[in-house]
Amino acid sequence: MPSVHIKTYGCQMNERDSEAVAAQLVAKGYTLAASEAVADVILLNTCSVRDAAEQKAIGKMQNLAAEVRRNRPGVVLGFMGCMAQSRGRQLIDTLPDVDLVIGTQKFHRTADYLDDIFAGKRDKVVDTGEEQGSEAAIKEHILNGSGPEKSVTAYVSIMQGCNQYCTFCIVPYTRGQERSRDIAGVVAECRELVARGVREITLLGQIVTSYGRREIPVKDGRSAFVQLLEAVHEIEGLERIRFTSPHPKGYGDDLVEAYGRLPKLVESAHLPVQSGSDRLLKLMHRGYTRARYLDIIEKLRRVRPQMGITTDIIAGFPGETELDFEETLSLAREVEFDNAYIFKYSPRKDTPAAAMPGQLPQEVKEERNARLLQLINEIGARRYDRYVGTRAEILVEGPSKKNSARMMGRTRTNKIVVFDGAGRHRGQIMDVRINRAGSFTLYGDPAILNLE
Ligand code: SAM
Repeated sequence: MPSVHIKTYGCQMNERDSEAVAAQLVAKGYTLAASEAVADVILLNTCSVRDAAEQKAIGKMQNLAAEVRRNRPGVVLGFMGCMAQSRGRQLIDTLPDVDLVIGTQKFHRTADYLDDIFAGKRDKVVDTGEEQGSEAAIKEHILNGSGPEKSVTAYVSIMQGCNQYCTFCIVPYTRGQERSRDIAGVVAECRELVARGVREITLLGQIVTSYGRREIPVKDGRSAFVQLLEAVHEIEGLERIRFTSPHPKGYGDDLVEAYGRLPKLVESAHLPVQSGSDRLLKLMHRGYTRARYLDIIEKLRRVRPQMGITTDIIAGFPGETELDFEETLSLAREVEFDNAYIFKYSPRKDTPAAAMPGQLPQEVKEERNARLLQLINEIGARRYDRYVGTRAEILVEGPSKKNSARMMGRTRTNKIVVFDGAGRHRGQIMDVRINRAGSFTLYGDPAILNLE
């Protein structure tokens, strides 16, 4: 059977989609190629959130097409995911060596389309249609077997799409309207993962806090998302629950209260703020004010004082003045984020912000991006330093990426801890003493239990 290599661009949702496609292909007898150089099929799973991500994938495909068509003419080339969805057939028109374009509601059809291409039934395939039920088609996992390499963390996709229509964001156009899986289906998948050795699950969606809003009624004041958290929390053997990406407007009191009630829900929240200026938040159509955002943070820290808080911020949104930007800097100081992903505003096709007046020059975006990054690094360093001399509970995930002779785990607050450990520690929850903080990384030693 042919071998397949999938290269993924973008967010965890894309990583998860690629994993599911890979698992579906393996179930059909395909093998996974360790690199594109030895693959019979090369698929690029793409991201459209910023132009740079699209250009990267297009450049990669141009290089692949040139190399593959010269040396390995039989290799099948394909685009999947967000850019495949937004550009469709146009990708084949401009890159005629591409054989396959698969949209965001069609990932699960990849194996069938490849079968058809290899059987000579089809030459080129473009499928970017909508498909009812496709939100429940991302279920299969690759967990690296049961040996010492086995995965202890897993992502579970609970919903697709977004109805928020932030004026900068392409996601509603590439991922479609919000569609949620049912609670039983998500729980069954999580249960199976735990049976296979997974101890931490991250629930995924473009706007997870809107999970089930239309399908599952509020019960005893609890939203569908909180009901899902409760159901997943019941799974025996599961140690930790995370989720991403939420929207601040989804942090009702029921979710804040869930942190106090559900011990497996770790004290970590990624709360994309985008800007500290009310004027810009309105232009962005975010649906909250600076005061409301700060109120959520305060409530979360009241329930879980150690809460690790990270965010996304856009620098250089159309019309952003120096004053607006300073409000973002002051918000970052006020919240004291543990870390933040900072993005230079990138105009996206068909989004309202792309046509707004006051588009800023690239130099202004770069300069604000750099200033914000410096502040986030300073605040992050202070927050990480506070861990030095303390004990922290980590879930050991495997060898450290930077130094495979050492092991790494994650605190409940989502900090990476590197320590001298062994393969047998993988999957264990253990206490470590933190003795040093580096750049967004902690270094520790296993704490010796004092039994006296
Ligand atoms: N759905 C999530 C939300 O908005 O809460 C995040 C999805 S997106 C993959 C991650 C981040 O990319 C957003 O939070 C935003 O900061 C950034 N982003 C989205 N559109 C952008 C654009 N046009 N230019 C720059 N950054 C953008």
